[in-house]
Amino acid sequence: MSNSVCGHFETIRTVKHARARECDECVKIGSAWLHLRTCQSCGVTLCCDSSPNRHASKHARSAQHPVVASAEPGERWLYCYPDDSMAEY
Ligand SMILES: [Zn+2]
Ligand SMILES: [Zn+2]
Ligand SMILES: [Zn+2]
Repeated sequence: MSNSVCGHFETIRTVKHARARECDECVKIGSAWLHLRTCQSCGVTLCCDSSPNRHASKHARSAQHPVVASAEPGERWLYCYPDDSMAEY
């Protein structure tokens, strides 16, 4: 984890929050998840890297949407996948 060279956070003006408390992809395939992340490019909510399917990470790579926000209650941080960087908001 580093706070070094990530310019992605600066492009986020308003943090997108989860529309529902579920991973869209896990719901489709009937799988379970652990924690939720909300993509800051398109607003989709997907599961974290500790979940079996790691949908947020896969989405970040395939859609090239770098930054997610935690969708967990009380957590106010952003994470950039390509830069492995975190920021609070
Ligand atoms: Zn970044
Ligand atoms: Zn998922
Ligand atoms: Zn996205």
